[in-house]
Amino acid sequence: MSVSLARRSFLRGGRTLSAEHRPPWTDESFTDACVRCGDCIDACPEDVLFRGDGGFPQIRFQDDGCTFCEECVRVCKEPVFDLTREAFSWRAQVSDHCLALANIHCQSCQDACEPDAIRFAPSPGHVPTPHVALDDCTGCGACVAVCPQEAIELVVPVGKETDHV
Ligand code: SF4
Ligand code: SF4
Ligand code: SF4
Repeated sequence: MSVSLARRSFLRGGRTLSAEHRPPWTDESFTDACVRCGDCIDACPEDVLFRGDGGFPQIRFQDDGCTFCEECVRVCKEPVFDLTREAFSWRAQVSDHCLALANIHCQSCQDACEPDAIRFAPSPGHVPTPHVALDDCTGCGACVAVCPQEAIELVVPVGKETDHV
C-alpha cells in the first residue's frame, strides 16, 4: 500500500504546496521561513530546483536527480532546511508503463541509481524486470529523470506520510 504524491497537498499559511514539490530536508512549514530569495535555486548544480508557486523553490526530476550535495542548504540564510530530517520521504515505484514489464529490454533506471536500489530479476522467457529495494532507495529521482517511459512514480509509503512531508 502506498499514497501517491499526486494526491497529497498541504495547506499552510494560506498556501497549498504539494509534497512532491518541496526541496530536500524541508517540511510543510518551510514557506513560513523561506523569503523566496532564490539562492538555493541558483546554487543547485543539478538544476532540480526552480521558482515555483508563489515564488517558492520547488523540486522536479525532469532532467536530473538530487545528488544530496547540500549546496541549497549551505547558501540558505533562513531556517528552512533541517539536515536532521530525511531528505525525501517518497520512494521510487515502477508502474506498468515500464518497457521491461512489456518484455522490451531496458535497464536505464538501474544504471542511474547510485545506491543500487533498483535490481533486475531474471525470469525464463522474459527480459529481466525491475524491483525497487525500498530500504536502499533515497528518493533522489535520478531514475525518474532517465526513464524513457515516465514509468517511475515517487510514492510515500503508508505510515510515513506525516513524518517528513
Ligand atoms: S542537495 Fe544539491 S542537488 Fe539536491 S536540491 Fe540541494 S543543491 Fe540541488
Ligand atoms: S528505465 Fe523505465 S522503462 Fe526502463 S526498465 Fe526502468 S522503469 Fe522500466
Ligand atoms: S529514487 Fe534514486 S535511489 Fe531511489 S530507485 Fe530511483 S535512482 Fe535509485
